[in-house]
Amino acid sequence: MLIDTHVHADGMSIDELKQMVDNGVTHAITCAYYPIVPQYPQTLIDLYHKLIEFDVVRAQDLGLKLYVAIGIHPRSIPEKGYDKAIDAMKSLSENDFVVAYGEVGLEKARTKELRVLEKQAELANEYDIPLIVHTPREKKLEITKKTLSLLNKSKISTNLVVIDHVTPETIPLVHDAGYGIGLTIQHGKLDVDTAANLIVNYEDDLIVLNSDSGFRKSDTTTVSKVLRELKENGANQSLIEKVAFKNAIRIFYKIR
Ligand code: ZN
Repeated sequence: MLIDTHVHADGMSIDELKQMVDNGVTHAITCAYYPIVPQYPQTLIDLYHKLIEFDVVRAQDLGLKLYVAIGIHPRSIPEKGYDKAIDAMKSLSENDFVVAYGEVGLEKARTKELRVLEKQAELANEYDIPLIVHTPREKKLEITKKTLSLLNKSKISTNLVVIDHVTPETIPLVHDAGYGIGLTIQHGKLDVDTAANLIVNYEDDLIVLNSDSGFRKSDTTTVSKVLRELKENGANQSLIEKVAFKNAIRIFYKIR
């Protein structure tokens, strides 16, 4: 079993999805993201349905068990009426394929982003749904600190949160806060060696791996590469199983 905890299947071709399967990925979570600022909340609501009703089936045909995270990304907050998208998240929470809210988070920490993240954290706590929290490329440390302080102030329990795109610079903060740690192995984020070193050094029950494949030029096989690297470096089997699937299954408890 191998779980890629953050992809964008709607930005991936059949060939790319197949390549993931051929490289041992058995399960993946596709995160909601709309690549422009939508004018209407309905755009996001249709996106959630598309992920659940179309991409899940497309992946299934290839032997990939795809699950869905629905949410409002800080770069995709509708001009007006984002609360309608939040209402749709509520009503889809019981869906068997919806295992998380995401990706959510802060990009520039504008007032509206803070409000939308706060709402989604409240919702996650109320519906007992894990939250996949994006951290941006720019001002990573500063925005991660703001994100953690917002989440700490909210009532969300730590075991429902994965802070994603964590780096060597931000991992101590996320680790100390007790949140899940998402390592994104992708060009411009973490390389295979750096990710493998972080896993060995932190040997944590909270680390989950992902490739963030889709939309941009991406390597769909990076999660398998990290596991291979760990094996070659003699990491013990129990550590490998934790980061390959055990931690993900504990956090995203609806995955079967
Ligand atoms: Zn993403």
